[in-house]
Amino acid sequence: MTVKIPVRTARTVKSTRVFTPDLVYFEPGALEYPKGNKIMDYVKARGIEYRMTTSHNRITNFPGETEQEKYRIAKRTLVVGVRKTLAFDQSKPSADYAIPISTGCMGHCHYCYLQTTLGAKPYIRVYVNTEDILRTAKQYIEERAPQITTFEAACTSDPVGLEHITGSLRELIQFMADEEFGRLRFVTKFHHVGPLLNIKHNNHTRIRFSINSDYVIRQFEPSTSRFEERIEAAAKIAHAGYPLGFIIAPIIWYDGWEKGYADLLERLENVLPKDATDGLTFEMIQHRFTKTAKNLIEKRYPKTKLEMDIAKRKQKWGRWGQYKYVYPNEQQTALREFITERIFEHFPKAKIDYFT
Ligand code: SF4
Repeated sequence: MTVKIPVRTARTVKSTRVFTPDLVYFEPGALEYPKGNKIMDYVKARGIEYRMTTSHNRITNFPGETEQEKYRIAKRTLVVGVRKTLAFDQSKPSADYAIPISTGCMGHCHYCYLQTTLGAKPYIRVYVNTEDILRTAKQYIEERAPQITTFEAACTSDPVGLEHITGSLRELIQFMADEEFGRLRFVTKFHHVGPLLNIKHNNHTRIRFSINSDYVIRQFEPSTSRFEERIEAAAKIAHAGYPLGFIIAPIIWYDGWEKGYADLLERLENVLPKDATDGLTFEMIQHRFTKTAKNLIEKRYPKTKLEMDIAKRKQKWGRWGQYKYVYPNEQQTALREFITERIFEHFPKAKIDYFT
């Protein structure tokens, strides 16, 4: 099927390039798997520097004078390894389980929760033993059948940004296509979906794009694909027959947020082909942070305009054993109601999965 490219796509702006790591480490065993060798071929073909390491835990010292420089360099470092922990974490509210194919991300979103979940290990890791991971997924599906079991592939990274290196999403999608009771979902801020088009998915994979107001994308999401690129990719995904969704996250309260989010939904309706909107889902996540995250963000992005004033927030006990700070109830209600109304104004048939 021919994909109509939205008229408003800014052709004059340089497109976001696929990620190329500056340095790649291989852990023991990685080269015993076909995927490990495929990644080694990729590395050699591009003349990327690589090293062998006994464990990613030994990669502690990144070059750079400041915390910011070290952090930037770490985020351009890729570690190729074998996933040993095969018990999957829960992934509420988005899915039943997190399916682990990668951790870490090349994006520089100031608010990103990976700041804390990955802590001092912000490098990117990809796993080569996909067959073991899929075997485990099958066990989870069989245990719960005939209930549907959903797996989220983007809990600890943005795997679309790594697909040209690993091909792991493609394998997961094809596996899930044949699973009557299994479903896959993942979210992305990258537009590099080419490898996912023209493969068998059987409508068992929902691909969601993370979107936000212009202000939030410009201020807080460096090194990710532009809004237009994401929407162009969303249209391709819809034309490829995948169930499609959007995550508006993090929803941020700033001067002019109503206009920002109203414009976002209007723009989305204008650029998304009409036949791509059937069965659309939306998820909404308000901005939250912990004290640990605030400290890290202030060190790594010292000029950030991200508002993290604890006095203006409501404290909520988080499941990771730390308080998180969300918006007070009145602000939450205003955000949820306003954005929900705009969603249904532009997409009356859409479904809102949750606001959290
Ligand atoms: Fe984090 Fe997603 Fe941004 Fe990557 S793209 S830095 S995972 S928020």
